[in-house]
Amino acid sequence: MPSKKMTAKKSTGGSAPRVVITLEAADDVSDASQSDEMDVASDGSHHNDFCIVCRDGAVEPNSLVCCSECPRVVCVNCMDIPAAFQHAVLADDVLFQCICCYISQQESRRRQENGPSRLPYFGFHYSDGRPVLDRFLNIRATLELSLRAQISSAPVLFVHLKIVDYDATGGSFDLAYDFLKPYFPCGGLERREVTFDIATTAKAANYQRSVDSMVRALKEQGKWDRVVIGISDHTDNDNGDPFAGYDGKKRFIAARVDNFLDIILKPWQGLVDHASESYLWFFCCGALVNNIESFKTLQTSILRHRMSAAVAFTAPRFQPSFTSHLLLAFAEIVLLERFAIHNSFPHMLGQSFKLGRHTDIFLMTPDKDQLTVTKYCWTHIDHRPWGHYLPLLCPSCGVGNAWRSASKSRVYTFECTNHPCRTSYTFKQPEGSRMLHPGKTGSSCWISIPWKY
Ligand SMILES: [Zn+2]
Ligand SMILES: [Zn+2]
Ligand SMILES: [Zn+2]
Repeated sequence: MPSKKMTAKKSTGGSAPRVVITLEAADDVSDASQSDEMDVASDGSHHNDFCIVCRDGAVEPNSLVCCSECPRVVCVNCMDIPAAFQHAVLADDVLFQCICCYISQQESRRRQENGPSRLPYFGFHYSDGRPVLDRFLNIRATLELSLRAQISSAPVLFVHLKIVDYDATGGSFDLAYDFLKPYFPCGGLERREVTFDIATTAKAANYQRSVDSMVRALKEQGKWDRVVIGISDHTDNDNGDPFAGYDGKKRFIAARVDNFLDIILKPWQGLVDHASESYLWFFCCGALVNNIESFKTLQTSILRHRMSAAVAFTAPRFQPSFTSHLLLAFAEIVLLERFAIHNSFPHMLGQSFKLGRHTDIFLMTPDKDQLTVTKYCWTHIDHRPWGHYLPLLCPSCGVGNAWRSASKSRVYTFECTNHPCRTSYTFKQPEGSRMLHPGKTGSSCWISIPWKY
């Protein structure tokens, strides 16, 4: 007998019978939040707390200068302000233009044929446009970020909803929160973790009550500009239903995904609706999206709950810890630098190559009442031709590592070299797919596939 070991489970998945959960006074999610009163004390006019050039903060007063055209700030350490002008630039009628706004303005001048000639960077101007300095303002460093990036300090709320007795280890979601912490020294970043069991009407009501009071306290803190909800759960292997909790005999039972989301998101919906961006991450095994019925139902639910984006994974025995790189990239590129998730997803994937060996990823982004669904797969010429899984052993003769590959105009053929087997596979590029940042050899990269059903 091969020796065996006991270790902590990292993957999600399982099976559980479906039930329908109701709330005592069941009302529709669509009107759950519209009447919610909300403190909108802080709004989008909030400036960044960190210098866009060096990405550092400042403890000295007046050392971060706010751009009058965008939310960015530049620290005085990054600018050579001549000593004679140190006071003049602080005057009330002086406006500051950050280096990013300046460069994009000059770029648009350059693009105009016969347009106005380009001007040096003065940074500080009077309201009539006259520069304050007598020569250009030197910037001491080079930009570490893209010109369109910000270092946003608009408030972010992380909500982690975990099924009772969740046994898959790995906290990529919490890691993203930890990564952002240094950027919010004065608050504006919070994390709440809620263990849920909503399998019966009474338990669902309990969940609702306890989350309601949590949400009330959060609303008193002000407006949450971005809300990120992570759901760590198992799903039924056959029909993709998320687990809802325990029945009377302490057996897991599940609910249809729309029923599940209506209950679990209802108390958070007010925060979601008042946020300028809201994200839903499913740390659940792939049955949720691999089952066509459940995936269709999920898509309708995402629209109904008015999320800005939702992400789900296809691995049948999904391991949340492998998503750490993707979550960190999300925190940095989307939450901090404020790039739109649908544009920056390829960049996020560029930082998480290994994840592609474990799972494909679905990104769902609503556009008015339509949902755009994109599947991202990792392709490797030998291991995952066009995102397909090549069997490790030849299914006919059982020999391992027996494939000989040939490729012709992006069609890969694999043939078993075990004489006289000759079993073969052919893989074509999926229709409409696009290769994302392929390497020099083109042997491996992520691909995006527009998805519909
Ligand atoms: Zn700086
Ligand atoms: Zn600016
Ligand atoms: Zn064979």
